[in-house]
Amino acid sequence: MDQTSITASDLRQMLAFVGEAITKEEARLNALDAAIGDGDHGITMRVGFNAIHTRVSSLPATAGIDAVLREAGVAFMGGTGGAIGVLFGKMLIAAGAALKGHLEIAPAEFKLLLDSMETSLATAGKAKPGDKTMLDAVHAAHQAVLELGNSQPELAMLLAHTSQAARVAAESTAGMLARAGRASRLGDRALGHPDPGAVSFSIVLGAMAEWTQRNFLRTR
Ligand code: ADP
Ligand code: MG
Repeated sequence: MDQTSITASDLRQMLAFVGEAITKEEARLNALDAAIGDGDHGITMRVGFNAIHTRVSSLPATAGIDAVLREAGVAFMGGTGGAIGVLFGKMLIAAGAALKGHLEIAPAEFKLLLDSMETSLATAGKAKPGDKTMLDAVHAAHQAVLELGNSQPELAMLLAHTSQAARVAAESTAGMLARAGRASRLGDRALGHPDPGAVSFSIVLGAMAEWTQRNFLRTR
């Protein structure tokens, strides 16, 4: 039987898997940031996910998905610097608040999660879609969910669909001029280079999709 939702315990394992995926991509993310920023984005993401792992591992087994997301956000923000430390930390905290009281992440909760993350990032970062930031990938993932309307794919399909949309959006940032963050000082020298934060968000969603494929599409 296919499982269709993520429990708090699943979420803890999934975050560890996402952290491994980010760590594997550290050098690529640093290189992307070296092209249009200061070259530290991979380091920051790896350090942030290490901080998440340490914090989440120490939570009691009874911690709900809202607490796991909130504590992950607090840990990420506390463990890292840079623009993304605050912005990504806040996104996770917002997702925790949006899922308060929910016992699992089913498609409806995943929509809430993306909605709260996009609102949080847009509010805190003050960028718009098209400004060549992480928001482009978050916005595309959220739009992909909204465009499904009333059709109800199960969670593994939904994650695969949204992570694909985030990946395409991250690639498309290469053609954008940067209007927020460090890269905004570069003018058209930023053209041809994808935004590192958009790429890292697409890696996060891609790893979530892969974890779900691996763990849900087997009998358990
Ligand atoms: P820093 O720029 O402080 O070195 P990082 O290199 O870790 O931080 O992260 C850079 C990424 O942060 C960018 O690629 C972009 O995606 C994201 N970012 C920066 N400023 C904003 C913003 N105002 N809104 C959304 N994302 C932003
Ligand atoms: Mg940087």
